[in-house]
Amino acid sequence: MSSFGETKSTTPADAAKPPLISIGVIADVQYASSDNGSDFKKTVVRRYRNSLRLLEAAVNDWTTQQETLGYPVQLLVQLGDLLDGRCQEANGDRNECLHAVMAQFHRFDDDTDALRVDIIGNHELYNFSREELRNPAGLLHTARFDELLQQPSTYYSVVPCAGLRLVILDAFEICTMNGDDENSTRKQAFEYLSKHNPNDMTQKGVDWTAGLEGTNKRFVPYNGAVSDQQLEWLSNTLALALENKEKCIVLSHISLQQGACTESCVLWNYEEVVRVLHNSTGGSSESESGSGSGSGSEGAQTPVVACLYGHAHKGGYVQDDHGIHHVTLQSPLEAVGDEMCYGTLDVYSNRLVLRGEGRLVSRVLEYKT
Ligand SMILES: [Zn+2]
Repeated sequence: MSSFGETKSTTPADAAKPPLISIGVIADVQYASSDNGSDFKKTVVRRYRNSLRLLEAAVNDWTTQQETLGYPVQLLVQLGDLLDGRCQEANGDRNECLHAVMAQFHRFDDDTDALRVDIIGNHELYNFSREELRNPAGLLHTARFDELLQQPSTYYSVVPCAGLRLVILDAFEICTMNGDDENSTRKQAFEYLSKHNPNDMTQKGVDWTAGLEGTNKRFVPYNGAVSDQQLEWLSNTLALALENKEKCIVLSHISLQQGACTESCVLWNYEEVVRVLHNSTGGSSESESGSGSGSGSEGAQTPVVACLYGHAHKGGYVQDDHGIHHVTLQSPLEAVGDEMCYGTLDVYSNRLVLRGEGRLVSRVLEYKT
């Protein structure tokens, strides 16, 4: 019995079937009207203007997929860091840059009336106020009405087709970049960080990870955390999905799983989120997990089949011990030469097929129906 309404999905005939939905995916465009730069360690060239060219190529591909493959792209997922923080530094540049990327997205939106999901990344917080990001009528679609919360929110879920729920997290609900007057989140975040990282994180241009080992490298100001309220909402959302027999794809700018990308790009309280992902048996899941490494948690089931992330430009992948696929998408900002870097995710009843272009790695991610 498939939650997508198909009964069988492994026959040769099924292989030729169109997917239930086809989703354009891209992360960390980080466009700026700036000359090329580099990362903090000066080992990677960042091509800010080239990124817009790659976005344009991606939209060309997504808007013509109906003609090329016989089924359309019906949804776009933009996984955050759409504009580089330097857009804010140059006077008035932010709006010009925003309109340049929106001109590309609108070629898609206007053609198809499709849904576009914009995730909040750290660079959104360098460029926009929380108030702007919370505005459901803003140019960026970073807030939407949530069924459970019964109000617009920066974490929410949507059902783009029967049997599939996209669960969008706000990975920066608690962080150092929410402004000074944001219910003291900034102060709370610096206090939290100082307990885990001895470096002075109020200073810029220094290596904040100095002396940190393994996943402790995540305790830096460009990451963040989700609140207890968001965790509770997540648990309730997954319970709702189980009840409705929906599969879930979780979207977050920051990775929720060790091994899915470099260790410095993981959510501060990722363990708490993973515990919820693995124990969505309905109702509160707080007390069920115990050790958290829980492959043995009796009766635990999860509707989550995959989590998609940005933030770590080189990308990565790992499947966890509950079978959830964790995929970090490569960034167009670091594309070399004429290389492309975007993907299209085809959702079937028993697998996701990520068709990567150029730098973005293609993957087939299977799961139980
Ligand atoms: Zn980021």
